[in-house]
Parts: sequence; structure tokens; C-alpha cells
Amino acid sequence: MAQIQPLRGTRDLLPEECRKIRHVEARALAIAKLYGFEEIETPMMEPVAVFKRSLGDTSDIVSKQMYLFKDLGGDEIVLRPEGTAGVARAFISEGLTQNLPLKLFYRGPMFRYERPQKGRYRQFYQVGVELLGVDKPQADVELIAMAQQFLGELKLQGDIRLHLNTIGDAESRATYRDRLRHYLETRKSELSQDSLTRLERNPLRILDSKDEGDKRVVADAPSLAESLNDLSRAFFDGVQEGLSTLGIPYFVDPLLVRGLDYYCHTVFEFTTNALGSQNAVLGGGRYDNLISDLGGPKTPGVGWASGVDRLSLMLQETPKDVAPVAVVPLGDEAEKEAVKLTHELRAAGIAVDVGYSGNMGKRMKRADKIGARCAVILGSEELAKGIVQVKWLGTGTQEQINRSELIGKLRT
Ligand code: ATP
Ligand code: MG
Repeated sequence: MAQIQPLRGTRDLLPEECRKIRHVEARALAIAKLYGFEEIETPMMEPVAVFKRSLGDTSDIVSKQMYLFKDLGGDEIVLRPEGTAGVARAFISEGLTQNLPLKLFYRGPMFRYERPQKGRYRQFYQVGVELLGVDKPQADVELIAMAQQFLGELKLQGDIRLHLNTIGDAESRATYRDRLRHYLETRKSELSQDSLTRLERNPLRILDSKDEGDKRVVADAPSLAESLNDLSRAFFDGVQEGLSTLGIPYFVDPLLVRGLDYYCHTVFEFTTNALGSQNAVLGGGRYDNLISDLGGPKTPGVGWASGVDRLSLMLQETPKDVAPVAVVPLGDEAEKEAVKLTHELRAAGIAVDVGYSGNMGKRMKRADKIGARCAVILGSEELAKGIVQVKWLGTGTQEQINRSELIGKLRT
């Protein structure tokens, strides 16, 4: 019989991988708390409308990456491809609209049907934050500062860069969309098939196309900056000023638009030089129309999401668990006593590993392999005297300790 393999683009997180993923999540949660965010968990599946209405029909995610299926009752269900839409849905359906400003953190798996490669999976993990109810650049700056601190404290390989842009408010974007479409019509024959389909409904997306032909056309395109109205310009100035005040370096990237319909004003992305082409590690922006597009009251918002899988690939060091104590019995009688001792130590909150069989040499080898801090050795002589031998594996020193003093000793 053919062996059953995991689905393409999904992976088993074996213990070491799992530790890395959880470490990144834990760091993100710690930073989120530092900035006054609280954790929320929304379902991994949502009605399809949650994403269609918020991300937009022409976004890559909705048009080609959604895990969409009908359940047995005939409802159209999507495995969430991102976190913001679900949080926005919860904000409305849980009646949180009076609790502004609201600062929420989430983590968990996301699902997108895309071509798997290193750092790109069909089930992957994100951490993210949403700040709802604040329409000032200060909020955007605070979120970017938080992202920078998060990535900075993780101790990652390579260098991280912050790319920043504004896509203006709806009025500015409408003005620009017309200008851009007009220009692109004149160079239509040079555009890729993907871009031709975007030309009518979402020409801004053509700006960050990876296609070489598109890039040449885009190089001569009118700039979005020139279409910004006063309000949009002032907002962007505010964000830049705030970042400068905090000493956060950034690069204004006029071609950064990000793929989702819900963004307005600020968009940003942190990239790395350590991962080849999967270089985006965190992205976000402002979304003042998302909540109202989903049927809620008009509520400004800004947020970001970060790819935990990519960050875990970039960690300089693999995080370790607390080093356990290895209990090593010698002989049948001691074996029985070791079960009791192990139980006592664990009850006292001390992590213990016990080899289930084997001679002293084999068990000491295992203690070394799992990185135990010491071996508690128990033979018939020790049993009779009510003592144990403790061998500290780091230094190789050994001492004799009374059973009654063991827990105190191991706690220090
Ligand atoms: P990319 O340009 O790499 O496709 P994206 O713009 O689609 O990224 P976002 O939707 O902004 O990504 O999601 C935020 C972060 O989630 C990304 O910066 C990335 O680190 C991570 N991410 C997105 N898609 C995947 C995936 N398929 N596998 C692993 N991580 C991903
Ligand atoms: Mg993508």
C-alpha cells in the first residue's frame, strides 16, 4: 500500500520546529502585552463573505488562494487566509463597537492555496495585531515601533528593512486610479495577462507586479504621491515625523501598495535579506473602511501580521526547554524507588526525565543527550542510607545529598 503523505504545502512541526514556532509566538505576545494589547482567538473557518467583502474580489487571496468548500449543510466556508477580516467580523458580531480604542493580538494557522517552497506553505502561522478606533498617525507609528521591537528582540539572521508608503484616502486613490489607468491604456500591449485583468478593476495592484514587462511599464507611470489630497499628505507626513522622532529607520517605497482592498493611507512591510525570494516577514497598514465594508459602524483601524514560519527559519539559536533532572536507578529495588522519587520531584515542580530501561552507562548517555542539568543516582547503598548521588553534568562534579534535602537543592 502506498504510504500516506501529508498534504502538499503542509508540514509536521516536529519538536524542535514546534519550539521555534512557539518561541516566536510567545515573544510576539509578550511585546503585544507591553504595548497594551490583549489576545483574541477567532475561528479558523468563517463564512466566505467575511473575506470576499473585506479583501476584495480582485485580491490574489480571494481570486486564487482561498480554501473554499461547501460543508454538509451546503454553507460556503473558508479556512481563514489571514486574520484581520475575522477580527473585524468579531468586532461587529460580538458587539465590541462601544469599547474603543480596542487593541487586539492574535496568533494561529492561516491557509492559502499557493505554490509551496521554502518559507511559503499552504498552512502557515501568523501573529498579528489590530488597533481599532484611532484615526491618528500616532497609532500607525506605535504599531510600526512595536513591529520593530518584536523583530529586533528575536535575534534573527540577516538584516531587516522597513518599507513604507501611503496609498492615500479613497478620494486620492480614485484620482490616481484614473490617471494610472489612463497611462496604462497607452502601454496595454506590454502588460502581462494578470495585469490586463487588473487594469479595469484594480490597476494599483499592477504597481507591485513582479513581471519584468510590467515593471518596465510601471517605471514610467505617474506617481501616486502627486495625486494625494492635502489630508492624505498631512497624514503621511505625520507618520514619517513620528517614526523620525522615535529614530526608526524606513525607506519610502512608492511602489508598495499591498494586495488587499481594505487598506488606505499607511502601508508598510518589513523584509529580510536572509530568506531569498520569500523576503517579507511582516506587513500591515491602515484600514479605515474595513469595518464599515463588513456592515459595522465606520471605525478606523490599523494593524499588521507577521509570518511565524519565516521568522522561525531565521532564528540564530534554537530555543531550549528547561533542562530536566535525570533520575538514574541501579538495581531492581532502586528502580521501584526511582518511580516514587520521580513522582515526588515532579509534584514539587521539578522537570524530570527517567530512562525506562538500560544499565547505568546507557542511562547516563541519555541524560547527556537530552541536556539534563544533573543525574540523580540511586543504588541499594543510597537507598539504605536515605541519600542520593547527584552528578552535575555541566561540571562533572558529584555530591552526596540527603533525600530530605534533595528538592530544596534542585530548586536552587
Ligand atoms: P508574500 O508577498 O510573501 O506572498 P503576503 O503579502 O502575501 O506575502 P501578508 O498577507 O501580508 O503576506 O501576510 C503577512 C506575512 O505572512 C508575510 O509577510 C509573510 O511573512 C507571511 N506569509 C504570507 N503568506 C505565507 C505563506 N504562504 N507561507 C508562509 N508565510 C506566509
Ligand atoms: Mg502572498
